[in-house]
Amino acid sequence: MINPATGSVLTSVPGMGLEETDAAIERAHKAFESWRTVAPGDRARLLRRFAAVVDAHLDELADLEVRNSGHTIGNAKWEAGNVRDVLDYYAGAPERLSGRQIPVAGGIDITVHEPLGVVGVIVPWNFPMPIAGWGFVPALAAGNTVVLKPAELTPLTALLLGELALEAGLPEGVFTVVPGKGSVVGQRFVTHPAVRKVCFTGSTDVGKAIMAGAADQVKRVTLELGGKSANIVFADADLEKAAASTPSSVFDNAGQDCCARSRLLIQDSVYDEFLALLEPAVRAFRVEDPSRPTAEMGPLISAAQRRSVSAYVDDADVAFRGTSPDGPGWWFSPTVLLARSTDDRHWREEVFGPVLSVLPFRDEQDAVRLANDTEYGLSGSLWTRDVGRALRVSRAVETGALSVNSHSSVRYWTPFGGMKQSGLGRELGPDALLSFTDVKNVFIATED
Ligand code: NAP
Ligand code: MG
Repeated sequence: MINPATGSVLTSVPGMGLEETDAAIERAHKAFESWRTVAPGDRARLLRRFAAVVDAHLDELADLEVRNSGHTIGNAKWEAGNVRDVLDYYAGAPERLSGRQIPVAGGIDITVHEPLGVVGVIVPWNFPMPIAGWGFVPALAAGNTVVLKPAELTPLTALLLGELALEAGLPEGVFTVVPGKGSVVGQRFVTHPAVRKVCFTGSTDVGKAIMAGAADQVKRVTLELGGKSANIVFADADLEKAAASTPSSVFDNAGQDCCARSRLLIQDSVYDEFLALLEPAVRAFRVEDPSRPTAEMGPLISAAQRRSVSAYVDDADVAFRGTSPDGPGWWFSPTVLLARSTDDRHWREEVFGPVLSVLPFRDEQDAVRLANDTEYGLSGSLWTRDVGRALRVSRAVETGALSVNSHSSVRYWTPFGGMKQSGLGRELGPDALLSFTDVKNVFIATED
């Protein structure tokens, strides 16, 4: 593991091979027999205890994420707190996982939400803690056992969470972290018959391969994939407020965020005015040592990521850029690019770095057409003072989540996920639990 802010080596974590992965899945399969029968109130208590143990280790988890992933300390604390909150939220679920009683003749008909078995969770490097929690927590709450594969670059907080689960009293084999390669450990989750569901977050290409592989065993999948979300600014909006919040909407986590509002659509009548408001906000965005409490952005995750992001900027029209430290580490300054047309690579592709592409639009219809001109559909924002327009555009933009006059981030109690090729299924919120269950219908005859 390398600290992306300094380029220095932190530690190394041996990747598990095929045999070790199979052994972990077998243990999880065995543990499922007893975990599914733990009384709802007891499972709830164990999850609440897990939340409390995470809470007691917030600083340790956050520090580890700053060093392993280059996240700002402010973000990393939020991320560790998010794992705790998701545990608390779904700790309320086991006693509320009710089925139905449906009227039938000659008996009683009831439905039961049965757990699936072993759930495999595959996590990317950009938000190691929250994305892990959004998968493993509801899966456990619904009575499944979990094997979790962190990204090769960022396994440290996941490994600590695995230890904290045991400290909280979760039985061995209920939640196992299996570090290793995607092509080995992750792929085995897809092919091992005891794994009944794969919950994957990462690139669209790998997601498609997982979905295709899962078909062989009719394995359930939840997919959270890439994004190219639009931030639409209408002329009647509070332009100062919209401009002030734009940098964090795309540069947070150095732009390595599937929800990054990486396309800025500005109504043509306020195009110059809005860019003039945006420029000082971008230049003032604090890119510095992520362990400093004032940092708003740290480095990119790796040298390879920096090469990939740089390639988008090389031949593009740069409007203006922010600053970043010199010296070691994978630093990249926040960058605003003017798109020449919707064919520009930086306008179409997910850059996954601190790069914002800008294009003007004429009217509401034009804005919706441009926003939807992508196979992605994860997130987005729109700014207007016209409530009718806010509702019309919210309904017309094809994404799983939208915010009006804000760039609100994910909340653990509301649903999150993508339309079109940004994903399949929803995480978080009241319904995610059910995606870790199958409905069973039981008819009980009452005739003599
Ligand atoms: P990635 O290459 O798709 O990797 C994601 C995870 O899948 C990693 O743990 C990776 O393991 C594993 N993996 C790779 N190949 C696999 C295979 N053949 N079978 C099973 N697992 C495999 O993506 P990334 O480079 O980590 O992350 C960047 C991408 O993820 C971006 O496109 C971003 O938009 C997307 N993303 C989406 C969301 C969302 O919620 N929609 C959230 C975060 C990121 P290794 O570490 O060993 O490669
Ligand atoms: Mg990859």
